[in-house]
Amino acid sequence: MFNALVMDKDEDGGLASASVKQLSLEDLPQGEVTVAVEYSTVNYKDGLCLSPKGGGLVRTYPHIPGIDYAGTVEASSDDRYKPGDKVVLTGWRVGEAHWGGYTQKANARADWLVPLPEGLSSRQAMAVGTAGFTAMLAVMALEDHGMTPGHGPVLVTGAAGGVGSVATAILANLGYEVAAVTGRPETGDYLKSLGATTIVPREELNETTKRPLESESWAGCVDAVGGEMLARVLGQMKYGASVAAVGLAGGAGLPATVIPFLLRGVNLLGIDSVMQPYDNRLRAWQRIATDLPMEKLDAMVHPATLGDLPQLGADILKGQVKGRVVVDVN
Ligand code: NDP
Repeated sequence: MFNALVMDKDEDGGLASASVKQLSLEDLPQGEVTVAVEYSTVNYKDGLCLSPKGGGLVRTYPHIPGIDYAGTVEASSDDRYKPGDKVVLTGWRVGEAHWGGYTQKANARADWLVPLPEGLSSRQAMAVGTAGFTAMLAVMALEDHGMTPGHGPVLVTGAAGGVGSVATAILANLGYEVAAVTGRPETGDYLKSLGATTIVPREELNETTKRPLESESWAGCVDAVGGEMLARVLGQMKYGASVAAVGLAGGAGLPATVIPFLLRGVNLLGIDSVMQPYDNRLRAWQRIATDLPMEKLDAMVHPATLGDLPQLGADILKGQVKGRVVVDVN
C-alpha cells in the first residue's frame, strides 16, 4: 500500500475535493514503467487541477493530480528502463488526463520519461519542474533565434513565479543582463539574488498604449504573463529580437498590432512543454544541469508534503507562490 492525494467528487457528483488515501498497485492505470515517486511540485496547471472543478483540465474522477514527478524505476517492461534508473516526467497531459505525480507510486508510459541527467538529483529536478523546464525551453528558443549576451537587457515577466525565477537564474548565469517584471515589490531582493539587474514594476507594463512602437528596450523576453503586458512588450523589443511566449498568468488575450513584426522584425516564439519531442527534452534537461546554478535553485525552493497541496493549489492560482515548491511525497 502507498499514499496518494486523490481528488474525488462529493456524493451528489458536484465539486471535487482532495484527500490523502491509501492505494495499492492494482489501483493504478496500466503503464510500462512503475516509478517510486520521490518528489513532485506545484505548477500553475496543478492549481487548476486541484480546484473543485478541475480547471477544465480534469475530466474523470477519482483523479491523482501532479503534472510532473521524479523518482526511481521500480519495474519496467520496456528495454529503455530498468529498476534503479532515475527518471523525470513532465507533460503528456499527465496529472490532467492521466493520473499524475501526487503519489508514492506511479505507472508511466516509457515514452513519457526522460532519464535524469548526470549531476541532478530527483529533488533538484522537481525544484526545476515543468515551470523550470519550460523556462529552459524558452531560453533555448531565444538562443536558436539569435539571442546572445551583450546586446542589452532581457526581460522576464512574472519574474517571481516559477517560470520567471528559473528563467532569471539561467539567463543571469549565461551572462545576460536581466530585467525582472514583478507585481510584488517585496520580491526585489529575491530576484536580485537570482541575478536580476533591474526590477521593473508590473504597473509600468500592464497598461495598454495606443502607440504600437515604443523605444527599443529589450534584447529578448521570456513572457509568463501574456495579455496586455505581452502586447505592450512587443512594441518595446529591439530590432530583430524575440519574445518567447510561455504563459497566460495575466490573460490569454493579445490586444496587439502587427506593427512590431513588420517594422522591427520582432519574433513571437510559442513555447509548449507538454508535447515537446524527446530529443529536445533531453537537450533541455542537460542544459538545466549545466546552466542553472544549483545554489540559486535551492534559494527558490519551499518544501511541502502531500497534505499541503490543496492550499498551495489555491495559492498559485492567486499568484501568491514565490519561486518553486518541492513536494516530498514520502
Ligand atoms: P506562477 O504562479 O509561479 O507564476 C506566475 C507569475 O506571474 C506570478 O508569480 C506573478 O509574478 C505573475 N502574475 C500573476 N498574475 C498576474 C497578472 N494578473 N498580471 C501580471 N502578472 C501576473 O506560475 P508558473 O511560473 O508556474 O507559470 C507561469 C505561466 O506559464 C502560467 O500561465 C502557466 O500556465 C504557464 N506555463 C506554460 C507552460 C507551457 O508549456 N507553455 C509550462 C509551464 C507553465 P510576480 O508576482 O513576479 O508579478
